[in-house]
Parts: sequence; structure tokens; C-alpha cells
Amino acid sequence: MAHIINEACVSCGACEAECPVQAISQGEERYQIDPKKCTDCAACVEVCPVEAITKAEG
Ligand code: SF4
Ligand code: SF4
Repeated sequence: MAHIINEACVSCGACEAECPVQAISQGEERYQIDPKKCTDCAACVEVCPVEAITKAEG
């Protein structure tokens, strides 16, 4: 399981600096999370100004 960034992302970049395992990077349309690196710590969720990061379902 991993966290995901949805279409609400405004590419502010705040989450990237917050991730302790460097799972977040800038994608073509918005920032993205590498599910193989994400540990579900949720540190990124706290800093996102538009609540674009959520825990993946399932
Ligand atoms: Fe990184 Fe934690 Fe966010 Fe996963 S939940 S992308 S490990 S800050
Ligand atoms: Fe996108 Fe939120 Fe990350 Fe900013 S903090 S880049 S709005 S997901």
C-alpha cells in the first residue's frame, strides 16, 4: 500500500521535501509518489495545502 497524489495537486512542491524516503518527485502533470518507496508515514499529508494526498484504497 502507498499514499497517492490526486488531480487536486497544484505542484507546490511542499510534500517532496517532507518525505523521509524520497518517494515523491515532480511528474509531468503533478507530483507523484513511488509506491515501492512509500512507507505510509503520512508526513506529506500534513503539509499539502490542497489535501491532494490520500492513502490508497485497498
Ligand atoms: Fe513519503 Fe511518507 Fe508521504 Fe509515503 S506517506 S510519500 S513515505 S512522506
Ligand atoms: Fe501537490 Fe500537495 Fe505535494 Fe504541493 S504538497 S506538490 S499540492 S501534493
